Amino acid sequence: MLGNQLQQLNNRWTKWRGDGGIEAHILVTHYHWDHIQGIPFFHPFFEAHNRFHFYSFQSKYLGRNSLRQVFEAQMSRPYFPVDVSMMAAARFFREVEAGEKWEVEGTQITTAWLNHPQGCLGYRLDTPVGSIVYATDNEPGDAQCDNNLRLLAQGADVLVYDAQYSPEQLASTRKGWGHSCWLEGVKIARECKVRNLILFHHDPDSTSRAVDGFLSAARQEFPATWAAMEGMSVTLSGRGIDVSLPESRLGQRRRLRFAATVTGQAEDGTTFEEKATLRDISLQGAYLCLNNRPRLQSELRVVIEAAGDPNRGSLLSLRATVIHCEPGREKDQNGVGVFFIEDVESEPPRD
Ligand SMILES: [Zn+2]
Ligand SMILES: [Zn+2]
Repeated sequence: MLGNQLQQLNNRWTKWRGDGGIEAHILVTHYHWDHIQGIPFFHPFFEAHNRFHFYSFQSKYLGRNSLRQVFEAQMSRPYFPVDVSMMAAARFFREVEAGEKWEVEGTQITTAWLNHPQGCLGYRLDTPVGSIVYATDNEPGDAQCDNNLRLLAQGADVLVYDAQYSPEQLASTRKGWGHSCWLEGVKIARECKVRNLILFHHDPDSTSRAVDGFLSAARQEFPATWAAMEGMSVTLSGRGIDVSLPESRLGQRRRLRFAATVTGQAEDGTTFEEKATLRDISLQGAYLCLNNRPRLQSELRVVIEAAGDPNRGSLLSLRATVIHCEPGREKDQNGVGVFFIEDVESEPPRD
């Protein structure tokens, strides 16, 4: 529950709900600042027609009603201009135990205790269209918690996992800080037959380049890995996950229209080949307009032809994974987002 993420959620809810009130369930992992500091700034908490159900654990440092106390403390003087009585939304607090299970509107929720200073809960959500495990703020090396996490993550469609540090930092200067690394995430994803791994809880001192480095190292070992970013959304569909990335992160894109030949697997499993238009491209991925609707997470080959010079052959030949599919900008076409599996490399000209 980081500040910016809450803000983005607010924007999305405002778009969806129209005039109706929000009824939402919020799972709180623990009480460290980086997970609670967005609370006083979340506008929906101040609107009377909204209802929120919070789940968290009773901290031995706070005692009963731990999360309710956090709300009050954060909004006390001189830290905030108004007190908690201004939060007009209905708020319901429930303290759960590690290992507890309950159901919310057809989604089964399971908790497990993770290895983090002052405690942290991991959550698994089993929905009718797939499962997602949120297990961040965890340091490997505690036998009981390592086992808890593996039971929680077993066969999940999506595992959101702590990858704050590099494997080298985790083994040396950041040992005991309660976090993990991409290599550990990959190990758990493999062992537990997870389908998609999302690296999360990036270190504030990591540059985008450093995070991209962790991501590409992780992808060598476990191709279906993602690095979380602000505004990224992952939709479980029962046919795989659809990942939508924010424009801001893909900012350095070139809008263009390249002719390309695309081969891949359609949703019904048949293979297709078609001449297509490449609409934009970055070092990491591209956006294509296709007549066929490729299967999510399937592999596409995209061959871009060099214009006007038959001796040059193909300019680029790329292997990519389908991550996103939406109605195209032109009628009957699909807008398809792909992520490159290999680095973008030009083929040498033919002799
Ligand atoms: Zn923490
Ligand atoms: Zn944290």
